[in-house]
Amino acid sequence: MKIVVCVKQVPDSAAKMTVENGQVSWGEAPLVINPWDEYAVEAALVQKEAHGGDVIAVSLGGESAKEALKHALAMGCSEAVLISDPALAGADSQAVAKALAAAIRKIGDVDLVTFGRQAIDGDMGVTAAQTARILGWPALTLVSRISQLDSSSRTIQVERSVEDGRQVVQGKLPAVISVVKDFGEPRYPSFMGIRKASRANIPTWGLGDLGLAAPVSVVSWPKVENPPAREIKTEIIAGSSAQEIAEQLADKLLAEKVL
Ligand SMILES: Cc1cc2nc3c(=O)[nH]c(=O)nc-3n(C[C@H](O)[C@H](O)[C@H](O)COP(=O)(O)OP(=O)(O)OC[C@H]3O[C@@H](n4cnc5c(N)ncnc54)[C@H](O)[C@@H]3O)c2cc1C
Repeated sequence: MKIVVCVKQVPDSAAKMTVENGQVSWGEAPLVINPWDEYAVEAALVQKEAHGGDVIAVSLGGESAKEALKHALAMGCSEAVLISDPALAGADSQAVAKALAAAIRKIGDVDLVTFGRQAIDGDMGVTAAQTARILGWPALTLVSRISQLDSSSRTIQVERSVEDGRQVVQGKLPAVISVVKDFGEPRYPSFMGIRKASRANIPTWGLGDLGLAAPVSVVSWPKVENPPAREIKTEIIAGSSAQEIAEQLADKLLAEKVL
């Protein structure tokens, strides 16, 4: 089995987003592997353990995105590739999907591609489906379990987590899946894995290496605003007993129509 996992580097989830001159900024927040993508790495590694083969982590981003790839290597991926090109700055999800699909084709003989359900910065949740469409492969989204993967009949069966329950969905390999939290806790990078990842040589592929011209983004985001600041009043309720304080609190909640 040859499995590709797509991982994005994003600002830490605790980072506060601000908008400066119409530009989104997460300040000096540390950059981490997109938390949802750790589940995608886990799903890929479980399949590698069951069927043998390799897991190749792919990220599109700047040089710093190699750290997200090293995290995936430390978890157990066999190889990693960075897609980076100045012409990809500000790329929309379709342009990103085109570059990811070209890298998957260049890797060659790929059976399965795993994605996270969404990136916590862009929150589009569409890149897996768009990449599958460009490749012409089935897209099985929001996967909580891979119940069957048969490399001889070239089929995959998964369970999808949806609001009203679970669905069993089947498709042909090669396929693209996006993985949700219900899949199970992703493993921690091992000490040996971290050492191996720190020494890894990660190749960088530009658009020329992928045989792509500069992709034209069809979506732009000219205006982004922070939500209006909320006015918060704090009041400490004093009283001689817990009951008196609780009664005052209940009165105030009733007056504010909270209860
Ligand atoms: C403020 C703002 C608004 C935006 N609005 C739009 C918009 O309306 N339409 C639009 O097309 N684009 C938009 N973008 C761009 C979009 O965020 C990027 O194109 C992005 O790479 C894809 O969307 P996402 O990050 O939300 O990924 P999602 O689709 O949420 O990501 C799903 C999965 O795809 C994989 N993935 C995503 N990006 C990468 C990557 N770079 N490398 C490897 N794997 C990856 C990961 O597995 C991830 O879990 C916007 C960006 C910003 C900053």
